[in-house]
Amino acid sequence: MTTAEKTTYVYANRFVLGGLTEPLRVTPGMVEIRGGRIAAVSEGDSPTIPTLADLQQSKSFDLGDRLVTPTFVNGHTHLAMAAFRGVGSLAARRKNVVEDLFFRLEQDLTGEEVRAFTRLGAYESLLAGVGTVFDHYYQGEAVAEALRDVGVTGVVAPTLQDLAGPGCRGHQAALDATVAIDESARFRAAGVVAAVGPHATDTVSLELWRRSVDLATARDLPIHAHAAQSGEELRRALDRHGTTPLGWLHREGILASSARLLLVHGIHVTERDLLHLDPERHTLGFCPFSQMEFCFPAAIARWHGARVPFLVASDCAASNDSMNVQKELRFVSGMGLLAATFSAAEARFAAGSGTLPDAAAVDLSRTSAFDAWTELRDPEALLSTVWSVPGRLHPALPCGAIEPGCLANLLVLDPNHPTLWPVHDPLRALTMGDVAPAIDWLMLRGEFIGRRGDFHRSVLERGYTAARAEADARLGERLRRLGLGG
Ligand SMILES: [Zn+2]
Repeated sequence: MTTAEKTTYVYANRFVLGGLTEPLRVTPGMVEIRGGRIAAVSEGDSPTIPTLADLQQSKSFDLGDRLVTPTFVNGHTHLAMAAFRGVGSLAARRKNVVEDLFFRLEQDLTGEEVRAFTRLGAYESLLAGVGTVFDHYYQGEAVAEALRDVGVTGVVAPTLQDLAGPGCRGHQAALDATVAIDESARFRAAGVVAAVGPHATDTVSLELWRRSVDLATARDLPIHAHAAQSGEELRRALDRHGTTPLGWLHREGILASSARLLLVHGIHVTERDLLHLDPERHTLGFCPFSQMEFCFPAAIARWHGARVPFLVASDCAASNDSMNVQKELRFVSGMGLLAATFSAAEARFAAGSGTLPDAAAVDLSRTSAFDAWTELRDPEALLSTVWSVPGRLHPALPCGAIEPGCLANLLVLDPNHPTLWPVHDPLRALTMGDVAPAIDWLMLRGEFIGRRGDFHRSVLERGYTAARAEADARLGERLRRLGLGG
């Protein structure tokens, strides 16, 4: 028996199983892992006991009362931009407009810089229980190297631009990088695969969109793009094409291709646009905290009404500050009630004398907002946005569920940690609770990383000091060159 075929058996009283092809459920059981993937799952108090011969060839872990879930999947991020966290304040101090500063910060980024900065974002992701990221950035191979350095699994989309943006001059290199990542056995063995990454509808020509579709269909890769993310992009689409960004993708046949398409932000989307999306092939991406920084949160109830699946993601540290995608869920859960906050009934109540009919109207507005959001507040639906919805996007990297065939990426949580205790309702706790401090251990591709019970400290002992020193030096040098150094 070769090392790759060795089996790892993981026992626990509370696995969160299913979510991809079966309903999500919390149950005792045993998970069998081979070659970094989940090979089999058995449920119940008395799972299949491996034979002695099997056990001699294997490792087994009894996690007892721990809550064992898939690691989180961050379906849209640019990890290298960890280096630009809080850059808005820097811009204000230097009296630069943010857009101009961003453009300068990202101009001619080298592979070494991107690799060094991405590692920092990858460490932060691990600490938040994120085991897989969908990254979209310049110097894609450097992103893939950095994920491999830290051990995070991911889908890397080298950013394609040919009309505007810092990647404009290098779109052929980015297409080549996409192919190189896709063909690399070394990356694949590390759980790092490729997606095709046209940047957006206003920075990528129709010709490059078409080449993206051809590449994606020829290699069975998903397309990961921004779409309808800003007022500027909407105005450009209306100006150039006489329709919305999604209307244009539809009219030009991009949406009709068989490629799976992840379209992130969808802030300026009409009801007609949504009719053009096919739930089988198209997924929208919602990044609430980031969207609140650069635009406003998209109207996801409309997406949900049109039955278009969506994932929840963090976007980058420059517009979010946190890579903890699980924390986004609480906002999604409560977001619907903002309809009452900004309702005409509330404004009437506040401006008036606070009469009983006014109070009743406010109450009614709250109740209807609450009722309208029932399905979107459901913990199972919310967890799917950071587990199975992104986890099913790439055929070579199924993840986000404890089911046979998926990556063996497991999160082990301490139910007795003050942030989770007493876990009356595990799915609610995973949605609304503060999960990261309760991480006891984490498995990626079948291997536990760090020390059990001392996860956060032990992860930072795996090369973080050197990684940070390099990122510090490279960031300092870049800021000095731009005249922004301290
Ligand atoms: Zn983005």
